[in-house]
Amino acid sequence: MKILVLNCGSSSVKYQFFDLDKNLALCKGLVDRIGMAGAVLAHSRYDGEKINLVAEILDHTMAIEYVVAILMSKNHGVIATQKDIDAVGHRVVHGGETFSGSIKITDDVIRVLHENIGLAPLHNPPNIKGIQAVTRLLPDTPQVGVFDTAFHSNMPHKAFLYGIPYELYKKHKIRRYGFHGTSHRFVSASAASMMNKDISELKIVTAHLGNGCSMAAVDRGKSIDTTMGFTPLEGLLMGTRSGDMDPSVILYIMGKEELTSSEANTLLNKHSGLTGISGESSDMRDIITSMKEGHKRSRYAFEVFCYRIKKYIGAYAAAMGGLDALVFTGGIGENSADVRAEVCKDLGFLGLEIDGKKNDSREDDISAPNSRVKVFRISTDEELVIARDTQEIVKGN
Ligand code: ADP
Repeated sequence: MKILVLNCGSSSVKYQFFDLDKNLALCKGLVDRIGMAGAVLAHSRYDGEKINLVAEILDHTMAIEYVVAILMSKNHGVIATQKDIDAVGHRVVHGGETFSGSIKITDDVIRVLHENIGLAPLHNPPNIKGIQAVTRLLPDTPQVGVFDTAFHSNMPHKAFLYGIPYELYKKHKIRRYGFHGTSHRFVSASAASMMNKDISELKIVTAHLGNGCSMAAVDRGKSIDTTMGFTPLEGLLMGTRSGDMDPSVILYIMGKEELTSSEANTLLNKHSGLTGISGESSDMRDIITSMKEGHKRSRYAFEVFCYRIKKYIGAYAAAMGGLDALVFTGGIGENSADVRAEVCKDLGFLGLEIDGKKNDSREDDISAPNSRVKVFRISTDEELVIARDTQEIVKGN
């Protein structure tokens, strides 16, 4: 089956096109600056063929029209006609409490996505636009929604309820949802297969460390807790997001700095985290470089970042009553030996130790030979999960 995977953001569409029978990503790309001057489509094919197009791309429908056209292009494409697209899988950020797994898109599903816009005002609207654009352009092609929240949807009440009046949970759906679910699902399953074990026997902590960062406690294949909450702001320190803090802090800042709620929202989401503490950059590479040059605030940012991850490893080992594996993924998790080393330092008491040499190399298994807990760095592949889920659902219908 050939599946087009779409990840629609407010001004961008990321895409990847798979031939799952051949287990191959045929091409991928990004349409950026939608609705702005100088929109760009950057496309690359599996054989290394690449093209960048600058065009006037007014909206998501036009962007997806361009994507379909480039898939069929003589020089850069991989298919002959639109009919070669068997199905389209969409990354959808928020499934609310309704969707606990991937689902075929119907009018009812779109209605529920609209109802959930309040929960993800920045993310769900472009996801819906992408679905509607495909409906217009490829009306006979089945579409599937794969939700960032779904993997965490079976967390127990003790993990997802906030300590606020229960009526507010019922009335406004204020609870912890968690995100990055597709990635946590993929890397925990990959770790189990690297250990030659069934995931139902394992207690795994997964750390997805990219621009956004979250961890999950995956107990026998199910996420029982995760660090992100009602929104992706909770939990770990991130590139520009604060992560956990006393909620009173924000009320206090709003008073002292005379901020509106929208300004406070921007402060916590865009100007905090690594950027906020270091005053330098949201990019972990820059933080590490400037820390090594002796920049004090970059060192603080690095230390807060790693310390929080370490704390959650302990918390989740306690929540699961044990730990068999720890997985690092995402741009930082996959690439930063410094972060992995700092996080894993002094965790010998948990039976967890990494091998310094393997950590500096590109190996998947970076555990020390005597480490009871396996430690992995695994490249996440959310698009592949979306493609596989889409195939499974379309074939099952
Ligand atoms: P996104 O969450 O937007 O998908 P990524 O998963 O690509 O982002 O992660 C981006 C982060 O990965 C950035 O902070 C970047 O600095 C970090 N990163 C990428 N390569 C390295 C590296 N070699 N060392 C440290 N950090 C890295």
